[in-house]
Amino acid sequence: MDQIQNSFLSKQNIVNPVTGEQFFPAELINPRGDFPLLLVCEHASDNIPSELNDLGVSPETRKSHAVYDIGAKEVAIEISRILNCPLIISNVSRIVIDCNRDPYSPAAIPSKSEVHFIPGNKFITREEHHRRVEAYFNPFHGLVEEYLNDNPWINSFIAIHSFTPVFYGVDRHVDLGVLFEGENMLAEYMLQMLIEIGTFRVVPNEPYKPDPKVVHTVKRHAAARNLPHLMVEIRNSLIRTETNQQRMGRLLAEPIRKSVEMVSQQMNSA
Ligand SMILES: [Zn+2]
Repeated sequence: MDQIQNSFLSKQNIVNPVTGEQFFPAELINPRGDFPLLLVCEHASDNIPSELNDLGVSPETRKSHAVYDIGAKEVAIEISRILNCPLIISNVSRIVIDCNRDPYSPAAIPSKSEVHFIPGNKFITREEHHRRVEAYFNPFHGLVEEYLNDNPWINSFIAIHSFTPVFYGVDRHVDLGVLFEGENMLAEYMLQMLIEIGTFRVVPNEPYKPDPKVVHTVKRHAAARNLPHLMVEIRNSLIRTETNQQRMGRLLAEPIRKSVEMVSQQMNSA
C-alpha cells in the first residue's frame, strides 16, 4: 500500500506557477482503508489556484454552492473514517473545472452557475481550457482509475455531493437524494434503510435526475467496470457545522455499510 500511495503522490503533486507552492489537485484519503467501497467527492474543495485570481467572482459567490459542495468533503471523510474505506477527493473548485462533467463540455468550465456569474471563465481560450483539464481534471480521474486498477477487491462506488436548498428562488423539498439509473440493488437497499431511519426526507433521483451530464464520474469509472454505484446528494443546510457534518456522516455510514455488504453477498452467491 505504501508503494501505491507514493506513486499517487509523485504523479499528482504539481507546483503552482505563480506562488511556487506544491499542492495535490487530487488526494487519496485513508489509503489503507479495507472496506470494499471507494468513496469519491468531486466537489469537495473551494480552492481556486492563485494564478486564476478568484476567477473574478464576488465574495458572496466565493462562499456559495457555485464554487463547491458545502460540507460534502467533511461528511465523506467521516464516512471513510467510520467504515474504514478509501476516499478520493478533488482539491480544486468546480468553477476551475468541474470533475463531474465531460471535461470539454461547456458545463465543465461554466461562466454562470444558477444566479452566480464567473467572469474569469467567460472568454476562456482553448489553451487555458486544455491546461485546466491537464492540471486539475486529469489528476482526479487518473487517481480514481489507478486506484481501481490496483485494488480489484473494491466492489462498490459512491459519490458524495451536497445541493443548494433553494434553486432559482424555489425550495427543494428534499433532504437526501439517492441518484441512480435502472435496476440498482445498492441504491434500493440504501433508499429502504434511509427511509426506515425516518429522520430526513429521502427521495430517489432528486433534487435532479441522473442526467448523463451530471453523472460523469460514476459512469466513467463504476458503470464502465460493472461496479455497483450511486450518488448521494445532501441538502447543504443540514451539513454546515462540524457537529452536523459528523452527525450526517454517522447517519449515512450504517446504511452504506449494510447496502455494500448485501450487494457483496449477492455478487458472491451469483
Ligand atoms: Zn456536487
